Amino acid sequence: MKRPESIVIASQNAHKIIEFEDAFKPTGITIKSLKHFENVPTIAETGTTFEENATLKATGIMNFTHQAVIADDSGLVVKALNGQPGVHSARYAGDHDDDANNDKLLKEMQNKTDRTAYFESVLVYLTPEGDKVVANGRIDGEILRERRGNNDFGYDPLFYVPSQQRTLAEMSTHDKNLISHRGNAIRNLIRKLLGLWDS
Ligand code: IMP
Repeated sequence: MKRPESIVIASQNAHKIIEFEDAFKPTGITIKSLKHFENVPTIAETGTTFEENATLKATGIMNFTHQAVIADDSGLVVKALNGQPGVHSARYAGDHDDDANNDKLLKEMQNKTDRTAYFESVLVYLTPEGDKVVANGRIDGEILRERRGNNDFGYDPLFYVPSQQRTLAEMSTHDKNLISHRGNAIRNLIRKLLGLWDS
């Protein structure tokens, strides 16, 4: 498999771009974001799995940029809610309204004794030559009955990580990235790519 000189991350999220830049630094590959392009098409995330959605995004952005891309999709999977909010995590209660989403999660979990949940992240690497590599990452935890911590994004204040005795919102970004679903998925993807690329 040919090693690209640069990879486009199919995201506008500055934090995600920085996380990819840091992780890919040792490879010497340049990380580009969608900010480098104009009139980027919006890709509808109509899939029923994280992998389907990540593949839709990767395909759409690769066809637009004609460059190697990485797209991700992630979300919260709660056992007592039969896997919800899952692929609907961003729009569980309101469109990217974290507060409303957390309120709905608290309400749905009110009478549940099994609080176990995990975050999953799926990354899809796609190139114009047709190479496709998929990598997953996961972090296990429990849904609290009230919010804890300020360094929050999405469901972070309700997601308690027993091994760290803290919620994700009580961790620094650096500490979270070391154990997070996305951090794990990025590390898995780089490991796979380094094994597949021609040296
Ligand atoms: P995305 O695919 O990374 O945009 O994530 C979709 C949605 O899942 C977000 O809008 C959040 O609601 C939720 N989510 C994903 N990753 C995290 C995380 O690390 N902490 C909290 N919520 C997350």
